[in-house]
Amino acid sequence: MDDDKRKTTLDQKNKELREKWDKLQFDSQQGRAGEDPYPTAFGSLRTPLYATKSYAYSSLTELLQNHYNYSRTENPTLYALDQKLATLHGGESAISVASGMAAVHLACSSILQRRVERLRPKKIKALLPQNNLENIPNVIIHNNQYTGVYRLLTKIYSQMGVMTKIVDMRDLKRLKEAIDKNTKLIFVETPSNPNLDVLDIQGCADLIHEVDGKCVVDNTFASPALQKPLALGADLVVESLTKYINGHGDTLGGAIIGPKNELQNIRYFWLETQGAVMHPFSAWLILRGCRTLSMRIERHCSNATKIAKFLESHPKVAKVIYPGLESHPNHILAKKQMRAFGGMIGFELESIEACYKFIDLLKLIKVGVSLGDTTSLIEYTSVMTGIDLASWEKRRMSISDTHFRFSTGLEDSDDILKDLEQALEQL
Ligand code: PLP
Repeated sequence: MDDDKRKTTLDQKNKELREKWDKLQFDSQQGRAGEDPYPTAFGSLRTPLYATKSYAYSSLTELLQNHYNYSRTENPTLYALDQKLATLHGGESAISVASGMAAVHLACSSILQRRVERLRPKKIKALLPQNNLENIPNVIIHNNQYTGVYRLLTKIYSQMGVMTKIVDMRDLKRLKEAIDKNTKLIFVETPSNPNLDVLDIQGCADLIHEVDGKCVVDNTFASPALQKPLALGADLVVESLTKYINGHGDTLGGAIIGPKNELQNIRYFWLETQGAVMHPFSAWLILRGCRTLSMRIERHCSNATKIAKFLESHPKVAKVIYPGLESHPNHILAKKQMRAFGGMIGFELESIEACYKFIDLLKLIKVGVSLGDTTSLIEYTSVMTGIDLASWEKRRMSISDTHFRFSTGLEDSDDILKDLEQALEQL
């Protein structure tokens, strides 16, 4: 059996199960997809943690007939998670990897970097960017974007002959003007980190498809419980599982979701080569987190709505950004594109001095990076996320000096409100 055939055997078996999972509602899918039924011994209701690197067989024939070979490309615990994420997103396939950044890197590699096979040195030289100046590929990102992605593209891909254009993608006319025949990818992060700009996924996808480029959506702030970009025309979705999908703050993870052929290329070439593999224990934890995703998200959203309204009415708060508020510039689009508005809030105080004072006065709310946790976390954005960026880069990525990014936890909203109130009152 050749390699490709071996790798699809399990997928064939899974096709029937997938049809069954697809018929379920989201709340049922998050518990059952990928796991029920799971081919385990002893009738274990839960998916086992397969902590193994190799899969050993009694003969070469048996090895070639089996899907599992080496855990850099496949592992049964990760397989269950992949199936679950594909189902939740309505995608054909998914790959779980070590972190959200690993997922971004793999998705970008598969689109922006060429896979060169068996070429003689002369031919490879002819492919190098200095020989192809008028054909330099470019990628477009929004002017407010998770800084890790900005760094990856502008500080690493730029050296590999890929140009990054930074555009306010809320304005589709400007985006259309920026797209040219060399635009291979637009990277759509919505809602955006940290400013919670909401971008029109369908509109962006339609524009890039006119030049045969790809639209990758980073869905981390929404999760599939609130937004399903593949149904809106995205080619690939990336998720930082570290955030809402795991939701318990105890591990990192990332995923790419999309069509089977593209994901096979990513798994068996790019992941196999780059090696950003998720540990099975992380997959096991994330499977557990997934089972309650929509219920947690519901509480994150209701807490965030109450807090955003409170902050908007407070005289010491200069500005509040929450896609669920009518004052949010993209509120109508958010209503159309998302099932609810998420657990993230942005707000600004009047001065840098007030920001430093305020954050130290909080008691229940923890000061820390990351988001989507059971614990409420606050980040003083320009200091905590943009610390490695020069001030001109912060301006370029629209990071304000007085902005807080607040990740609403699952505590009682009254306790969170009390904490914010006492800190604001002391300013
Ligand atoms: N995408 C977004 C929108 C993020 O906010 C982050 C991290 O904060 C990432 C990707 C990277 O995810 P990870 O921390 O899992 O690598």
